[in-house]
Amino acid sequence: MSIPLVLPMAQAVLNRDAEARDDSELFDKLWLENETRIIVLYKGKTLIQDGHLKLLTTEQATAGKYRVYLGRTTVDLADQKIGTAVVLSVLSDNAAKAIEPDESKWHELRRSGAGLHPRDAALFTQALAIHNWHETHQHCPNCGAITVMQQGGWSRLCVSEDRQLFPRTDAAVIVAITDDQDRLLLGTQGSWDQNRWSILAGFVEAAESLEAAVIREMKEESGLLVTNPVYLASQSWPYPYSLMLGFQASVDPSNSPEDIRPDGVEIAKLRWFSREELKAEAKDILLPSKISIARSLIEHWLGEEVISATELNG
Ligand SMILES: [Zn+2]
Repeated sequence: MSIPLVLPMAQAVLNRDAEARDDSELFDKLWLENETRIIVLYKGKTLIQDGHLKLLTTEQATAGKYRVYLGRTTVDLADQKIGTAVVLSVLSDNAAKAIEPDESKWHELRRSGAGLHPRDAALFTQALAIHNWHETHQHCPNCGAITVMQQGGWSRLCVSEDRQLFPRTDAAVIVAITDDQDRLLLGTQGSWDQNRWSILAGFVEAAESLEAAVIREMKEESGLLVTNPVYLASQSWPYPYSLMLGFQASVDPSNSPEDIRPDGVEIAKLRWFSREELKAEAKDILLPSKISIARSLIEHWLGEEVISATELNG
């Protein structure tokens, strides 16, 4: 009944080539390779052309604020041969304007990602997550001193304490809850557009297991006790650097119908959807973006892909 989970942004399109990161001449060497390609980011946005990332040559990419070595391609990416080195260059205002002055050509992952080839979406995701970490870790979280980039952009060093800092990944659970009739629970957030529905999610707290986080978050957001959380798949969500861990869980039979109670803060409305209802109503409701794990989990339960108002509205 269910269909395979399709997670565009979870594709490993690069060999991260970690052993090369300690080479002090890494970027000089990469710049000597004609094939090296640059993904540029400006205010978290990149250049997109015809559904693909616009990767620049080393000559086209003027000096940016900083660079991160992302790795070498393991698949054909943007018509480059396998093994092509890919570097993230984060641009200053002036550098970005020199490359592309038209602001409308710069795209956000969460707005434009669904129109991207999955391999390009995966690369954009990796670039954005490491960018977001650098942007927020210019100072040491322990002593407040300046930190400097190391290891090709995969760590930072606190200059005061000689303390090495590594990129953070914040774990979040996202859960497809079903009831005894195999209906799926969808919620709508108060801050969202009318008629936008998704499954529920929340961050894992300190020293909490994933299973406990599923049960706590679902209780907080829906009022329902869920049981038997089963892990399905994970995918990065680089806002700012989360890892979404997808689960399915069942509603415990001890819940009464009155227990279902949106928290009123994050979740404004909750509703059980049968497969027939979701298929019939999909064109009129906004489902999560096609690149999100939320959408994958919904369609996995549904047993087929659907077109929702999200896609119809472009
Ligand atoms: Zn420090």
